[in-house]
This record gives sequence, structure tokens and C-alpha cells, in this order.
Amino acid sequence: MDAKVEMVTDEGPMSLKIGIENMLWKQKAAYLSDMNPAIEVRRDRLDRLDRMIVAWQDRFAEAISDDFGNRSPIVTTLTEIVPTRAAIRHTKKHLAEWMRPRKPSVAWTSQPAGALIIRQPLGVIGIIAPWNYPLNLMLSPLVGALAAGNRAMLKPSELTPAFSEALRQAVAEHFKEEEVTVLTGGADVAAAFSAAPFDHLIFTGSTQVGRRVAAAAAMNLTPVTLELGGKSPAIIDSSADLARAVPRLVWGKLLNSGQTCVAPDYALVPRDRLASFIEAVKAEAKKQYPKLEGNTDYTTIISDRHFGRLAGLIDEARAKGAEIIELVPGTDAARRILAPVLITKVDPAMAVMQEEIFGPILPVIPYDTLEEALAFINDRDRPLALYWFGKDKAAEKKVLNGTIAGGVTINDTILHLAQDNLPFGGVGASGYGHYHGEAGFVAMTKEKPVLRQAARTGVAMLYPPYGRIARTMLKLLSRFG
Ligand code: NAD
Repeated sequence: MDAKVEMVTDEGPMSLKIGIENMLWKQKAAYLSDMNPAIEVRRDRLDRLDRMIVAWQDRFAEAISDDFGNRSPIVTTLTEIVPTRAAIRHTKKHLAEWMRPRKPSVAWTSQPAGALIIRQPLGVIGIIAPWNYPLNLMLSPLVGALAAGNRAMLKPSELTPAFSEALRQAVAEHFKEEEVTVLTGGADVAAAFSAAPFDHLIFTGSTQVGRRVAAAAAMNLTPVTLELGGKSPAIIDSSADLARAVPRLVWGKLLNSGQTCVAPDYALVPRDRLASFIEAVKAEAKKQYPKLEGNTDYTTIISDRHFGRLAGLIDEARAKGAEIIELVPGTDAARRILAPVLITKVDPAMAVMQEEIFGPILPVIPYDTLEEALAFINDRDRPLALYWFGKDKAAEKKVLNGTIAGGVTINDTILHLAQDNLPFGGVGASGYGHYHGEAGFVAMTKEKPVLRQAARTGVAMLYPPYGRIARTMLKLLSRFG
């Protein structure tokens, strides 16, 4: 790959690896010229990011809609613009407190020395984002990177070319390239990007590509935050009020037509409530999306390949004996509109239960006891999100203690992700590391421990040659140290 000309930069054509690394060294040199940017510098970068979002929001929303085929600007504003701007506000409010050095106590044996933890920027952060929420999943990690005093290089998804180009222009308009820069291109650029020696990488995307990114980063010992996907379950408890639970579940499932990392993937429903659950889902889907034709609220599927994959999941389930219930009719393959469906009589061996769905398909699995539902979840990869609906506090406790997931919302869906005071991240196959709020700041910070020795120190009593004093000191240390 090195020998081939694959990238055109301001300095002319060059190989991907050299082009990416040249930019990285440029940013590293800038970082070394100001290793601890003052709070005013960081605030100014966050302000410019906010101004950029405001100035470009309509163009971003239009570009994202072009990339999808159709996505409502309201969905983009609600799920991308508003939360990213809220993250900037939250960060600016807490920045001084987050930057402050910590002063932990010192072991009594080392007193009167002093201890400090200095929060230092790591350097240059690489951020790779997926296509489903291309703005928020790129700029929300950037908020943490800039707040922590870093520089950043961004690689958006090749499936959102219009948005990626808009972002490249917007960033170039508001930032010097040694502060923040955008690299566009295909999976080959992303692969070369993840092999560059960043000081930290944040990757959001599929588990499959996440493994490759982790392997590439390991060659440089670059620490990685992996924000991946998976099958996030929603458990309806026997104590749940369906009239409350179902609208929230349907909203979370059909938002962006299910192309949401934390969308409820499948529902576990008490067997004796199955029929009423299905009726409630049917009614609610029709209420939220009365028809699909000409309905700009309903997001189209991002690409023909993804449309084909989703249609294939439905076909395979049907062929293997599942019952497909179309919630609102109106599939139109040419426009990549996929009608939402609920699937019953699901076998766990079906593809729809083997892979992350990432579309408007809701398999429903009946259960008889809560233990059985929890065992079903714990038999599978650890999910990115878990949802539980109910009133029974003992059951709620059992679910929280008896499962492990990236994050949980009780009695609703999606919303834990929108909390700047809650760390966000997966566990196991759904990823590792956290960001959002202070967690993001810390992820891109070196917390450097420092011990400052005092003028007088008892440690000198332990210097050789070892005599009576050292032996007495050792006795004391063995007992109280
Ligand atoms: P993807 O893994 O196919 O692509 C993600 C990014 O990786 C893209 O920018 C792509 O260019 C890049 N890429 C492709 N090949 C690469 C390689 N070899 N090395 C490095 N980078 C490479 O994912 P996607 O289809 O864009 O997004 C959907 C997935 O992302 C779903 O699994 C979803 O659950 C997950 N997701 C997770 C979160 C989260 O916050 N945890 C959020 C959104 C989406």
C-alpha cells in the first residue's frame, strides 16, 4: 500500500499511510508546542465547535438526509444537534473542575511528602465514526478530546459521503488543521487511519470492524475506546403497564428506523401477555407512523446492501416458520423504505436472533419465568443496552444484578445515552472504555501521579548500611505500613 499514490493532500499526492502520518506529525508538533492548553484555549475550541454546528446545522441535516435517502431534519436535530450542543454546554460548565489536579492523601510512611494527580492531554486523538448518527458520534467524542486539551483527526463513514464532505468543509472553516482535521474516504482510508500511531483512538462501529481496529491499534500500543453494537434486549415484566411501556419501546425501536446502536433489538415478553403486547405494538406503530408513503418522519435504510440484509433476515425467519406481522404496510425497495415488522414464533437459531438487527424488525420471545429471560440474555454476548419495563422493585433488582450490559434504561428506551452525567460504553462484545461527560474527558487524559518529596524524609532511615534503626523501622512497617 505504501508505494501506491492513494491520497491527495495539500502537499501533493502520497500514499495513505504517509498522508495520514504526515498530518498526525503536524498535529503532534502543535501539541508539543502547547502541551497543557489553558482553559481559555479549550473553551474557545468548544465555542468554535458550537458555532460550527449552529452555522452548518441545516446543511448537515440536508446532507444526512441525502445520504440516507430520507431522514427528517427533526430526527437529526433531536438525536444529533441537540445532544452534541448539550454535551458542549455541560463540558464548558464543568471544565475547570475536571482540569483541576487531584490531591489524594499520602501514605503515612511517606509523610510529609505531597501527592498530586495531574490531568494532562494525551496528544492526538483519532476518531472513527459510523453512518447511523454521523454527526453526534463524531462530534461528541470530539467534545471530550478538545476539553481534555487534545488535537483530533476525524474519519467519518464512507456511507455518508455528503455529510462527510460537509463536515470536512465546516471543520476547515472553524479550526486550523493542526487543531482538528477531517479525512474522508473509504474503508481503506479507515484501515490505514486505525494503524496510525495516535495517542488514543475512539472507534464507533460494528463489533466485527472493532476487532480489526483493536488489532491495528495494538501494533502501536495505542489505547482504544471501542463503542460497538450488539443485540440489546427489552424485557417486559409481568408487572409492566403495557399502555406506558409499549409507546416507549416502539419509539426507541423505530427511531431512525431501528438504525440506532442502542435500539431495543428484541423483546422478551411474559407468555400470558404476548397477545396483548402484540396488539399494543400494532396500534402504537400505526399511531406513530400512520402510513409510510410520503412520510418524511420515517427514515429510509442507509444503503441497498443494508436493505437487502434486513429483507433477508425477514425472509429467512419466514421460511423457517416464524410469523411476520407487518405493523404499517408500505415497503418500497426502490426507495429503501422498509415497513416495520414484528416477528413471533422465533427460533434462536434464525439469523434475526444471531446478528444485530439494526433495522425496524422486532422479534418477540415469550418467557415463563424471569430467571428464564435472564438466562436467555446471559447465554449471549453482553449487550450494549438493556431495557426493563415494570413496577415490581424486587424483579427490577434481580434484572439489574443478574445481567451485565453497557447501559440500562428502566421504563423507557435510549435515554440513558442522553445523560452527560452517565458514562457511556459497552462491555465485552459491545465494546470497552467509556465516554460522555467527565468519562470522555478522563478517557483522553493521562492522569499523571506525582509525588513531591519533602525537605526531611523518614525514608532515609532505610538507606544502607542496614543497622539497628533499619531493622526497627522494618518491624514497624511490617506491622503498620
Ligand atoms: P462499521 O463497523 O461497518 O463501520 C464503522 C466505521 O469503521 C466506518 O467509518 C468505516 O469507514 C470504518 N471502517 C471500515 N473498515 C475499517 C477497518 N478495516 N479499519 C478501521 N475502520 C474501518 O459500522 P457501521 O455499519 O458504520 O455502523 C453500524 C454499527 O455501529 C452497528 O453495529 C452499531 O451497533 C454500531 N454503533 C455503535 C454505537 C455505540 O455508540 N456503541 C453507535 C452507533 C453505531
